[in-house]
Amino acid sequence: MRALGLLSGGLDSMLAVEVVRRLGLEVLAVSFSSPFFGTARAQEAAAQLGVSLMTIDVTEKYLAMLPRPKYGYGKNMNPCIDCKALLLRRAGDLMPKLGAEFIFTGEVLGQRPMSQNRQSLHIVAKLSGYEDYILRPLSAKLLPPILVQREQKLDTARLYDISGRDRQRQMQLAQEFGITNYPSPAGGCKLTEPGYARRLRRLYETDPAPPVRLFKLLELGRHVRLGDATLIVGRNKAENDALERLAVPSDAILRVSGYVGPTGLLTVPCAPDEMRRAAAIIARYSDAPRHDEATVQVVQDGASYELTVVPIDPETVRGLLV
Ligand code: SF4
Repeated sequence: MRALGLLSGGLDSMLAVEVVRRLGLEVLAVSFSSPFFGTARAQEAAAQLGVSLMTIDVTEKYLAMLPRPKYGYGKNMNPCIDCKALLLRRAGDLMPKLGAEFIFTGEVLGQRPMSQNRQSLHIVAKLSGYEDYILRPLSAKLLPPILVQREQKLDTARLYDISGRDRQRQMQLAQEFGITNYPSPAGGCKLTEPGYARRLRRLYETDPAPPVRLFKLLELGRHVRLGDATLIVGRNKAENDALERLAVPSDAILRVSGYVGPTGLLTVPCAPDEMRRAAAIIARYSDAPRHDEATVQVVQDGASYELTVVPIDPETVRGLLV
């Protein structure tokens, strides 16, 4: 038999692969990417486990779900229940093509109070459309059996009954399986980061269907509210370069002339007053003298012009940061 595991690259998903493999099944793994999470950790884990990994970009479906998840958000902008259901559905759709009898995850009953309690695990499975095909090997003895277990094609006795937030048993299993290199449990999803979530909410307020590149911009620089627009100000050379790389011709790029300073990026058209304010903000973060006029160059749609401004008061900018 063949099974398809969802591999995030975290310890639990690695253990799940190993548990299923030790039952004598052939295991394939899949990992998903979107603007909010990637496959780098999964690729490292797959290499360590020696399992073949498919990577699939789910951006389009993810962005369709994210503004209105049926089961809402967690602490930040993380729609964990809808997210897991979406990924499981995508994995389930692959089963016939890959000849897999079931899919499995590293989820542990009760490990996360909201998204991994008994009811959530049930909702996620049901919402995915593959309820009877999703095995959680680490907690399978505590959960209703799925089809392959009821058909006695799987030795349930060799699955586990791990539950709760204590990770002691997972550590012991890791040792037993010789898994020595794994990331800490937190991290990996930008939607759980408070700062990123704040910027994302602001983005949806100003644009209900933003293009994909704008999600990448949320990771960069300082974000300053400017009417309906948001000015992004690079904090170092790497961010300045990234902003220039991600800009499209209709964006406005702002730079102070004659002094070291940040690159500013505006992705929506601005009234002349607001463009002057943006220029004053860019001047404030540059080496230009605080109380003298500075010249800021604006490049947009292949044309460029200059604005002469006095750097804005730092207190005022602080109040505008997103
Ligand atoms: S933390 Fe992020 S990737 Fe993980 S289930 Fe929640 S939304 Fe999805």
